[in-house]
Amino acid sequence: MISERIAEVRENIELATLRSGRLSGQVRLMVVTKQVSTETMRTAIAAGATLLGENRVQSAREKVEELGRDGLQWHLIGNLQKNKVKYSLDIFDRIDSVDSIALAETIDRRATQLGVVMPILLQINISGEESKFGLAPKELGAVLDATGNMKGIRIEGLMTIPPMNPDPERARPYFSELRELRDKYARINDNISLNELSMGMSSDYAVAIEEGATLVRVGTSIFGSRTQ
Ligand SMILES: *Cc1c(COP(=O)(O)O)cnc(C)c1O
Repeated sequence: MISERIAEVRENIELATLRSGRLSGQVRLMVVTKQVSTETMRTAIAAGATLLGENRVQSAREKVEELGRDGLQWHLIGNLQKNKVKYSLDIFDRIDSVDSIALAETIDRRATQLGVVMPILLQINISGEESKFGLAPKELGAVLDATGNMKGIRIEGLMTIPPMNPDPERARPYFSELRELRDKYARINDNISLNELSMGMSSDYAVAIEEGATLVRVGTSIFGSRTQ
């Protein structure tokens, strides 16, 4: 049952939040609904899912048309091509996977034309795996310098995906590194807060919370495994 699985994930989040020395409710659950039908999504929404993660613009558009935006927050967590930005601004509440200055510029330009401010996260490739999207940690300073003053975007924090590993402890160093990176740049830049740390998925969200995640992205533990 989806509602039971959501309740179980919430309970684990709660326990890890308290273990991390934070107050109940300080870590949010993003329910990752990629490859999940709108019918199944309705069940999750009825069970209290409000923050939804999608990885493709086109399928997210179709789902938003069907399910609407009232009471829901739709986040893009997959790679965004610049030519799809124009289809993204009116469906997503935040783009959590910005990984280049060029993409940030495109979002900024489109958002400015529409007279809106698009919240974003910068995706960081901590492990340096070539198969992963994301900025190298050493690029972050330059990217913040280049994008920090853009009026059409608001940088709310960082996100990362560690290398796949069945042992969640193996992910811990990547999570702590993202937190340290955030702390470092938040200290340097008075005008940038980077409050959000989006890290942790089904296999490792408890560890991510212990390392400071403010938002975890969970799909498989709720919906079972789907093919990519
Ligand atoms: C699919 C996906 C998730 C969810 O992963 P699960 O292991 O299914 O919980 C989280 N984040 C991103 C970026 C994803 O693409």
